[in-house]
Amino acid sequence: MNYCDLAPSYIRSIAPYQPGKPISELERELGITGIVKLASNENPLGASPAAVAAMQNAIKTIAIYPDGNGFELKDALVKRYGVAHANITLGNGSNDLLELAARAFLTVGDKVVYSAHAFAVYALASQAVGAIGISVPAINYGHDLKAMLQAAKDNRVKMVFIANPNNPTGTYLGAGELLEFMRGLPPEMLVVLDEAYNEYLPEDKRYDSVSWLKEFPNLIISRTFSKAFGLAGLRVGYALAHEQVTDMMNRVRQPFNVNSVAQAAAVAALRDVSFVKKTFELNQRGMQQITDGLTRLGLEYIPSCGNFVAFRIGNATAMYRRLLEMGVIVRPIANYDMPDWLRVSIGLESENAKFLAALERAIAQQAHGENK
Ligand SMILES: *Cc1c(COP(=O)(O)O)cnc(C)c1O
Repeated sequence: MNYCDLAPSYIRSIAPYQPGKPISELERELGITGIVKLASNENPLGASPAAVAAMQNAIKTIAIYPDGNGFELKDALVKRYGVAHANITLGNGSNDLLELAARAFLTVGDKVVYSAHAFAVYALASQAVGAIGISVPAINYGHDLKAMLQAAKDNRVKMVFIANPNNPTGTYLGAGELLEFMRGLPPEMLVVLDEAYNEYLPEDKRYDSVSWLKEFPNLIISRTFSKAFGLAGLRVGYALAHEQVTDMMNRVRQPFNVNSVAQAAAVAALRDVSFVKKTFELNQRGMQQITDGLTRLGLEYIPSCGNFVAFRIGNATAMYRRLLEMGVIVRPIANYDMPDWLRVSIGLESENAKFLAALERAIAQQAHGENK
């Protein structure tokens, strides 16, 4: 028998998530070292030294189960955002929170709206519970909130996922348009506002979504320690929402979904404001360096508010391979319906320079029809 057939059809139809290639695997495959990975939007500075020290300390009590309620981390978040403990759900990465939202509120046949080219996990989390995803066409690769509002109302959806900024496009929605969307949406429809790259927003684009929770009990804000805080390997994120929404998300959560080392590191990382500032500034400079380089090479890119940028290139798959062979890992995004694009994460200055030099060589090789 085929054991796949034992799974419900909505599980069988899920397309597996394609993670970026780990450096170690590529080094083994190609027999080279010194590879630069600019494929998963990680923090090129690593983690905050304060977070690393907190982890080392937390290891001493690793035999003990973590605090299932994450009291200290929630307390740190309460102090930072002025919300209550009852408004916070902790997750094993914010990916966990997207799934908890789906698992708590969606069932087979429920409808969900998200944008074309939006983060892949929205479709995965919806499909995993048998909900039906409706992908709304984008405008200039960004969310078309007016069309999404219409689609949500027309289809009486249960949930809308919005990424701001969005991955892999880096596109951004302003506070005005988000508020207009929220005000137009019936209150029984939930909105998951995924702000994984919130800390990377330039000063003039920042907005206070947390203050909106008072007006919108149907709003769920998700944030992560994986990107600007440099803790992707630890897996920790949080969601802020109305206490009843939070209550439901917590009921489907594993009792110990965030490990103790991660909780300790997140508390320290949250306090290390200067590390996040340094990360932000490095990213601003690196974004300029990379977009200047792309412009010099005559390549089109999507202006990005994240720590990555998508650029258009002919033969994206072949170019991805050429870059790999030169020791630079970027991310193909054909699975986001963008087959002619690659996404590069912003790295250290030297990594960005290595990427741009490799890209220039790869384009020259391609022009001369070498190796292919
Ligand atoms: C990276 C990312 C996340 C989740 O990252 P976690 O490591 O699970 O916290 C969520 N949303 C978007 C848009 C992302 O790019």
